[in-house]
Amino acid sequence: MVGKHSAVKRCKWFYEALTSGRSCYKQKFYGIKSHQCIQMSPALFYCTQQCLFCWRAQNGDLQIKWDEMKLPEWDSAEEIAQGLLKVQNKILGGYKGNPRTDPQKFREAFRPKHVAISLTGEPTLYEPLGEFIRTLHAKGLTTFLVSNGNLPHKLSNLGEEPTQLYVSVCAPNEEVFRRVCRPQVADAWSKLNETLAFLPSFRCPTAIRSTLVKGHNMEDVEGYAKLVEKADPTYIEAKAYMHVGFSSRRLGFDNMPKHSEVYDFAVQLSEKTGYRIVDESKDSRVVLLSKREKPIQFSSS
Ligand code: SF4
Repeated sequence: MVGKHSAVKRCKWFYEALTSGRSCYKQKFYGIKSHQCIQMSPALFYCTQQCLFCWRAQNGDLQIKWDEMKLPEWDSAEEIAQGLLKVQNKILGGYKGNPRTDPQKFREAFRPKHVAISLTGEPTLYEPLGEFIRTLHAKGLTTFLVSNGNLPHKLSNLGEEPTQLYVSVCAPNEEVFRRVCRPQVADAWSKLNETLAFLPSFRCPTAIRSTLVKGHNMEDVEGYAKLVEKADPTYIEAKAYMHVGFSSRRLGFDNMPKHSEVYDFAVQLSEKTGYRIVDESKDSRVVLLSKREKPIQFSSS
């Protein structure tokens, strides 16, 4: 935990990068070094959706109830930024003594380069989000922001754009959206569509991220294509649902598509949108589509 409502989590790929040289798809696609990446959330307990596939504990899981929309008094952007750098250093404790740790990467890991604002919860609920992004940029960090797009007024008034903006599109139509994403705010589908409609006004690269759940949201590729057309994103990431965390109480192992099934979906989407498949990561079961020939690269050591 960082302060009252933020958190940092050691990502599996952070560990893998330090000890076995393997890395996350964000390194493969965009040059974001896994061992210099912080995975965090400024709104750990709060979200406007209760997606079936979400790994977080939601209100009602564990028989604990809370109002996910009753927002706290927010910690300041600077407090969270400083806190997460401190916690990331703490996370590195113990790696020095691990014989498998790469010493150079270990040293570099004390100088994070990137913050993925994506861990859990809806980050646009955090009131000073734009200020937080600006604070991170001022400290020399790049940022990827992942939003469910339910709060278009927050995204359109950020002040400071992230380095790359993701909007999750995990349903091709309103019926599937209600069933799979389970919105907790009124008009969430039209709000998401509003967000998609102004996505082209962002200067930063944008991505539509679709988490694919077999048997739930992999039909109606045409519907996804229409949403892509509206948003005109730089990228589309088609990614498999992972049967982890609390999602395993809501979904079965069989709901996790194989990489080949994600790829087939991406091929269909490519045919309908004109976006080309430009990369893939079998380990993470994700396929990257873009109109660009190659994705923009960000990080350096
Ligand atoms: S929008 Fe994100 S954090 Fe919220 S329930 Fe869905 S997957 Fe979880």
